[in-house]
Amino acid sequence: MILLEENMIYEGKAKKVYSTTDPNKIIIYYKDDATAFNSLKKGVIQNKGILNKEITTIIFEYLNSNGINTHLIENINDRAQICTKVDIIPLEVIVRNVVAGSMAKLFMMQEGQVLSEAVIEICYKKDELADPMINDFHAVSLGFATKEDLDNMYEQTKKINTLLKDFFDKIGIILVDFKIEFGKDHQGNIILADEISPDCCRLWDKETKKKLDKDRFRRDLGDIEDAYQEVLKRIKGMTL
Ligand code: UDP
Repeated sequence: MILLEENMIYEGKAKKVYSTTDPNKIIIYYKDDATAFNSLKKGVIQNKGILNKEITTIIFEYLNSNGINTHLIENINDRAQICTKVDIIPLEVIVRNVVAGSMAKLFMMQEGQVLSEAVIEICYKKDELADPMINDFHAVSLGFATKEDLDNMYEQTKKINTLLKDFFDKIGIILVDFKIEFGKDHQGNIILADEISPDCCRLWDKETKKKLDKDRFRRDLGDIEDAYQEVLKRIKGMTL
């Protein structure tokens, strides 16, 4: 399938979105572009689009077979997939199992402390504001989501975390934290959208604690493509 630029409806930092002849379906194309620190740092990670599309596909299929509805319909080539068209809820849902990143900064803590219970945060998706962390009262009163939407998202998020922690544990990886996004389909169902890949998760090797995620890009640690390849290799090697 040829993706015509005239059908592109949105270009984000890491993906492009195209319309299809079906109003309820879109095509998502994964780019190699990488950004960090609210786009202050920009670069390219060779083959990232291919790797993230493949990793997301396997994870979304795993979640789907365990009762989580996702937007993924089918892959059309090594960088593009057909997905259900959704209205993205403008919230980034962040789950933390281990202290790292902005949480370590906020509480002036070392990275690595295992949290006694998973922490769920929500951030308002707004680049101009650098995606500020908000609470449920903000989300509801500013009209980003209803109380029912939030309950639904939190319930799905907890299930997703349990499933993913187990998934990564089986391949020797600690799921430190991750970010997910939800959207509403044309029937109003809240389904998991966007992607789940080393771009939006912190993944540490269980034995060596080596970072196998975008922190290698954020912190100039090198071997970025190799780390993403390693995650895919381990995922492919596991029997689901
Ligand atoms: N994250 C993301 N997109 C964002 C912000 C965070 O995918 O815009 C992911 C990030 O990769 C990490 C988790 O969410 O796995 C928590 O990120 P954190 O709040 O620590 O922010 P960071 O310091 O990574 O910007």
